[in-house]
Amino acid sequence: MDMDFSPEDLAFRDEVRAFLKESLPEHLKDGARRTPGVFVEPDIGMEWHRILNDKGWVAYHWPKEDGGTGWTPTQKFIFEKECALAGAPAISILGLRLVGPVICEFGTPEQKARFLPRILSGEDYWCQGYSEPGSGSDLASLKTSARLEGDQYVVNGSKIWTTHAHHADWIFALVRTDSSGKKQQGITFLLIPMDQPGIEVSPILSMSGDHEVNQVFFTDAVTSVENRIGEEGAGWSIAKFLLENERGGSCYAPRLLQSIERLRELAETQPSGVNGAVAHDPRFRDRLSRARLNAEALEVTELRILADLAKGRAPGPQTSLVKLLGSNIGQEIDTLRLELLGYDALQLPVDRPLYGNEAPEPVGSELAQTAMGKYLNNRAATIFGGSDEVQKNIIAKTVLGL
Ligand SMILES: Cc1cc2nc3c(=O)[nH]c(=O)nc-3n(C[C@H](O)[C@H](O)[C@H](O)COP(=O)(O)OP(=O)(O)OC[C@H]3O[C@@H](n4cnc5c(N)ncnc54)[C@H](O)[C@@H]3O)c2cc1C
Repeated sequence: MDMDFSPEDLAFRDEVRAFLKESLPEHLKDGARRTPGVFVEPDIGMEWHRILNDKGWVAYHWPKEDGGTGWTPTQKFIFEKECALAGAPAISILGLRLVGPVICEFGTPEQKARFLPRILSGEDYWCQGYSEPGSGSDLASLKTSARLEGDQYVVNGSKIWTTHAHHADWIFALVRTDSSGKKQQGITFLLIPMDQPGIEVSPILSMSGDHEVNQVFFTDAVTSVENRIGEEGAGWSIAKFLLENERGGSCYAPRLLQSIERLRELAETQPSGVNGAVAHDPRFRDRLSRARLNAEALEVTELRILADLAKGRAPGPQTSLVKLLGSNIGQEIDTLRLELLGYDALQLPVDRPLYGNEAPEPVGSELAQTAMGKYLNNRAATIFGGSDEVQKNIIAKTVLGL
């Protein structure tokens, strides 16, 4: 495996750096930094999405013929790393990385022509209707039903933890169209418009008071049969294709390493009993060093995945390893940040947003204002996209042969 960047890759890195310097506005960096939620709010994320789309760089996970960039896996890594270093907002994956590639892979030419340009332009905002009350890790047990009446599916049931459903124009949902066989059979992948009387979105507030997720209720909601992706009953294979994109395909390490570097800088200025700065506290140094080593090891794993992808090999269970390590290192960073900030971090403002002209004045530093919210919200990182236990089960089965 050759992990050195080629001269072409280095030239690409310089091009990305120059673009970010020129085109990434300060208010978007500020918004990204001061969002305590897990997901960047659409006003910040979609502005950056449109800037990237104008450059032709927004859909770098798509095939070139559908509007993608045609970048190599290494170029994708370089792009994500440079975006992290520059403090760019992480744009919503729901349209671009989740349903977009599904439509590219399984959609008809008509579906591609209808949906893909509106994802690229940001006209349509999407949410993901997979989990249900009682069906999360055991996703195939889902019960939300759809029956075909004429040329429309009529949908009844409920989805839960639906990120940004309150902003979404469309939901991509797994629904049950047949209950007679094994639970993985009889699942169908539907695209459903959100703006209709049969859909109710009910907010769920997180521990920090942020509104990111929802429960969505379907009562005789309708969608045209033309909005079915793949055959009826073929939803489970499509669902798995999408989950692989959700768990892999993107790099955690660059953002983690960037956060660790910020913590290191912060530690130099935070007082402690040992030589005047937390940075000199051996216990803190030990934990920060461990986090950095783990993030560097993760980066090497991510580069190995890229090397596999570049050779046309599927990454396999490494994506579970990356999800497991990435989310746990992220949570350790959140904890270290709280410990560094001490009493200053014991604040949880109720007003939102914490960026822009209307933002409340921080007590202490701006960092302290969001630290507790980030810590609380990011507890979810080891649950969504497949919990730690689920990832460990996959690793135990596929790597250790247990
Ligand atoms: C912030 C947030 C955003 C989310 N966004 C979305 C979204 O946009 N769309 C969507 O569809 N879903 C979303 N989810 C849902 C998420 O995918 C589920 O929460 C997740 O799959 C876990 O399912 P569950 O909550 O039903 O927990 P359960 O599956 O009930 O798990 C409960 C506990 O049991 C453990 N467990 C379960 N099965 C096993 C097993 N076989 N072996 C060992 N341990 C096990 C789990 O690890 C967990 O600790 C989101 C969740 C969160 C927290």
